[in-house]
Amino acid sequence: MENDVLRDTVIQVDLSALSENMQMIRECVGPDVAVMPVVKANGYGHGAASIAPALLANGAVYLAVATLTEALELKKACRDYPVFILGHTPDRLLKYVVEYGITQTVFDIGQARLLDSMARRAGTQAAVHVKVDTGFHRLGKAPSPSYAEEIRSMFALENLKVEGIFSHLALAGSEDNEKQFDSFTSFVAQLADKGCRFRYQHIADSIALVDYPQYRLNMVRPGALVYGMRGFHLGFLGVRQALTFYTHISQLHHVPAGEGVSYDYLWKAPRDSIIATLPFGYADGYPRNLRDKGYVIIEGVKCPLVGVLCMDQVMADVTDVPGAKAGMKAVIYGDGQDGSMTVAKAAELAGTNKNDIIARLAARPPRVYING
Ligand SMILES: *Cc1c(COP(=O)(O)O)cnc(C)c1O
Repeated sequence: MENDVLRDTVIQVDLSALSENMQMIRECVGPDVAVMPVVKANGYGHGAASIAPALLANGAVYLAVATLTEALELKKACRDYPVFILGHTPDRLLKYVVEYGITQTVFDIGQARLLDSMARRAGTQAAVHVKVDTGFHRLGKAPSPSYAEEIRSMFALENLKVEGIFSHLALAGSEDNEKQFDSFTSFVAQLADKGCRFRYQHIADSIALVDYPQYRLNMVRPGALVYGMRGFHLGFLGVRQALTFYTHISQLHHVPAGEGVSYDYLWKAPRDSIIATLPFGYADGYPRNLRDKGYVIIEGVKCPLVGVLCMDQVMADVTDVPGAKAGMKAVIYGDGQDGSMTVAKAAELAGTNKNDIIARLAARPPRVYING
């Protein structure tokens, strides 16, 4: 059973696309800039633990996640994976950070001391990167003499390895970016004057690393880009979507003109129609608000989804598909070359961004990995 794909609705991940995207990013930033791909939210829906080997084989210095739970999932897959937590971990859980050798974001001397004392007891070192708030107001403290003093104290802790310092751009515009970047680099320079030196300094995500090469410092944190999402505007990188979401027709219905389909009969057949039931729904991470907008590709034909989208099933109008029958493949998100809806198109139609579309992909559809 373990080797069977136990459902007709699957998310296929092309590992060679992920590898090539990583290589492209590395070539783009050059040999002096470390690449830390972001695999939070289950690797943006691609399956963090399953894609980790491809990313590490292609030069990932760290695998970055948002939470301790995500970090532990990777560490349980392989204890040696270099894992970085971008978010805050509460005091009571820091023991796991030390136990599993995870690199933690900190912005507080109290947490630094806790990590140091736990690491001392364990006979090890706890690695941290210090977070600086340069305007986003999400995590980290703003540059100030007192924060500089806190950071200086962190360097005095013997079992703490203060390995990096970072911030995050709001990408509010070139002028605001520059303000944030200058605030960050001048704070780093002040710290250097106090003898605080960091192996890694980073501020750039996917968009920033392509559009603003001057902000790459010596480490970048691409998420979207790794998965082939092109969110940049000024620069360009030819990354390609690694994911295909597809299903197979469960059943066909002949619906006479005038009859309704799905909840509330919000769609009524304008002509005698053939309606296919597809076994995926919003519980698989498909945006429910794509009603009247979404479509699938069956045998090369664009088939609009009709009626209210259900949790586990949706209906598509396949009247124009010659010889439509149960079992036929339907592409939900594809690379677009077959006319399929790309992740970018789904984001546009759903009124959200590409990361939201892929991060919301549920655990329920089995992942199928190809070209590994
Ligand atoms: C999610 C995240 C990233 C990656 O963002 P993308 O836009 O997907 O490249 C980088 N840095 C931090 C702090 C993040 O939370």
